[in-house]
Amino acid sequence: MATLELKQITKSFDDTHVIKGVDLEVNDREFVVFVGPSGCGKSTLMRMIAGLESATSGDILIDGARMNEVGPADRGLAMVFQSYALYPHMTVEDNMGFSMRLAGVPKEKRREKVLEAARILQLEPLLERKPKALSGGQRQRVAIGRAIVRNPSIFLFDEPLSNLDAALRVQMRIELARLHEELDATMIYVTHDQIEAMTMADKIVVLQGGEVEQVGSPMELYHHPRNRFVAGFIGSPK
Ligand code: ADP
Ligand code: MG
Repeated sequence: MATLELKQITKSFDDTHVIKGVDLEVNDREFVVFVGPSGCGKSTLMRMIAGLESATSGDILIDGARMNEVGPADRGLAMVFQSYALYPHMTVEDNMGFSMRLAGVPKEKRREKVLEAARILQLEPLLERKPKALSGGQRQRVAIGRAIVRNPSIFLFDEPLSNLDAALRVQMRIELARLHEELDATMIYVTHDQIEAMTMADKIVVLQGGEVEQVGSPMELYHHPRNRFVAGFIGSPK
């Protein structure tokens, strides 16, 4: 089980207030999507949840425990970025197993975990390949595989599909939805793609200028947007 709470989170870089008091509750196994224009603070928020960036003020709780001083490796989460840099000289299997190797997990156990993730992501035939012999979608699946082998209770995805072409994005959306079912994990997903938000989310968080404009289910936001900004973002296809 994994719940996440943000309590009055702020973040300033020097004198610039980038996140201005964000409150949010994410329930166990929920699929929550952050949307908002470029520069509104989505990635900064994700990095604070991941522990890659400290909050200026406020609290981050996972399963009720305060995480502010807990390092990224000990938060029980895994993050998948847009720029999913794989190690070019390593095979798919070694890329996926690398974090376990660093953590001293024995080879047999690593292989078992990698095979399990490869099955879920349909990467089994590609385990011996190097990244340059993979398509964009396959590489992105390897990046997701690296996250899966860590058994996180919370997955953080920051625009993971934005480098992929439209057809592949549709396919990956379906795969991520299936992954969410199969792994029973809590997922937080950043996108600026309205269709992704509407089709994938249990709950959408609309951000603007470092603040939460509205939180609700896709249908709530679609039918009852709080203001023009939310209506424009959710209501009008891009
Ligand atoms: P988004 O992911 O929604 O596009 P970001 O979280 O990347 O937005 O950025 C939010 C704001 O914070 C932007 O104005 C950005 O320039 C600023 N910002 C992000 N990281 C830093 C940093 N390390 N130093 C200074 N400003 C930053
Ligand atoms: Mg971003």
